[in-house]
Amino acid sequence: MYPNWILQRAHLTPTRTALNYEGRNWTFEELKKISVERAGQLTALGVKPKERVAILGPSQPRLIFMMFACMHLQCEMVMLNRKLSKHELEYQIEDAQVEKVLVDDEDLSLLPDHQKPILFSVVESIMGQPCEISKEWDMEQTISIMYTSGTTGYPKGVRQTVGNHQASALASVLNIGLTEEDVWLCAVPLFHISGFSILVRSLLYGNAVKLYKRFDIEGTIMDIADGHVTHMSAVAVMLQRILQGLEEKGLKASPRFKLILAGGGPVPEKYIERAHRLKLMVSQTYGMTETSSQTATLSNEDALRKLGSAGKPLFFNQIQISDALSPREMGEILIRGPHVTPGYIGRFSEKSSTIDGWLHTGDIGYLDEDGYLFVVDRRSDLIISGGENIYPAELENVLLSHEAVQEAGVCAIEDETWGQVPAAFIVLKSDATEAELIQFCSERLAKYKVPRYFYFVPNLPRNGSDKLMRRKLKELLQ
Ligand code: ATP
Ligand code: MG
Repeated sequence: MYPNWILQRAHLTPTRTALNYEGRNWTFEELKKISVERAGQLTALGVKPKERVAILGPSQPRLIFMMFACMHLQCEMVMLNRKLSKHELEYQIEDAQVEKVLVDDEDLSLLPDHQKPILFSVVESIMGQPCEISKEWDMEQTISIMYTSGTTGYPKGVRQTVGNHQASALASVLNIGLTEEDVWLCAVPLFHISGFSILVRSLLYGNAVKLYKRFDIEGTIMDIADGHVTHMSAVAVMLQRILQGLEEKGLKASPRFKLILAGGGPVPEKYIERAHRLKLMVSQTYGMTETSSQTATLSNEDALRKLGSAGKPLFFNQIQISDALSPREMGEILIRGPHVTPGYIGRFSEKSSTIDGWLHTGDIGYLDEDGYLFVVDRRSDLIISGGENIYPAELENVLLSHEAVQEAGVCAIEDETWGQVPAAFIVLKSDATEAELIQFCSERLAKYKVPRYFYFVPNLPRNGSDKLMRRKLKELLQ
């Protein structure tokens, strides 16, 4: 058994700042008081302990209070993604078979029309009822259920237990380190593991979170340059905007700022080099919904030496490459550790998350001689052309390094001679011709990798996590 994180943290460091939002602060004691009150209010509205509830709302303190209240009641929180369509939300609510849906009033219109959710404002205004708040949590208890991004197929509902989250947060701090003054900027969604894991770390470490409702580039740049925050989690697109912002303003990161944890997808190598010029520490990390956040992370001192690597596994974790007999041999990335989910729910509940104790990630990668992980691409997106393997990510990286290219996506197109050939979909930011891009690629890639077809498009198909859905690229042609 483990202590209820919220009660324990308030007991240990009641007066420390836990949360900062739009200039207002809350201490851990205040977070506890409000969340306990909300738990009573949810009880008055019929929410029962251990029930499965869905939660939808923008990143604001009231969402955190609601999540913490659910945690007090040991409810299984299904975190709904605000960027999904009604149809997609319907699927997840149905798939997860939730008892109740809690929604921030602001997001009511996002839900399918027939849903009868409980509004946050109703919870906040009702008279609470006494309820039992467990002081101890079971390691196996499911805290959250998050759906994968649905990049390669249907989103899968992933169980994340007390044990998973704890192992993840502990492994993270063993890697990154911690001081009392640390403040983690949270501008990634709380419904994703990237955002929620910031809250878990805050409860376990006792450090503050500076929360943004949405990614505010001006505010973020000032936070980093002035040292108002020490850590931040970001995906590649956010990092790119931060770099550009700092460069344009002629600013550098404050010495107090420690690092940006960059994950969710590959980070172009050029970004890492630019970051170093700005004295901005960036740690590339590899993780997924099934591992409750980070599995491997590249420390800053290795960032340039091991450019493009996602680093070494964090302390409790193991990484293996399926069927690889020697370093640099590519194969599916397999993961083992206490942070790995016990399994999926709903439609995928029959699918085992692990085989012989190892999570099969569907990602292809390799370990180098020193044991550093390089994530190459998704197995399902591999292109096989005349017997040669082509990884779309490699081609996209090359295309992205062309100054006229804003976004690039590569997928396979069937071909009579070669079986498959690569096709590139390009969003331009300035003029470039197909001939120029072919020339550019030919100088940098083996001949069989040079895209056979180029399509200039206004935008690329992305999912609710902003990830490129390569399986939808071909549909663009129709
Ligand atoms: P689905 O499983 O539904 O197809 P998804 O895998 O995109 O969606 P997430 O759990 O949000 O859902 O994302 C995890 C995936 O993101 C990883 O499996 C990997 O493919 C990719 N990823 C994460 N970090 C990195 C990284 N550092 N480099 C390359 N890819 C990464
Ligand atoms: Mg996945």
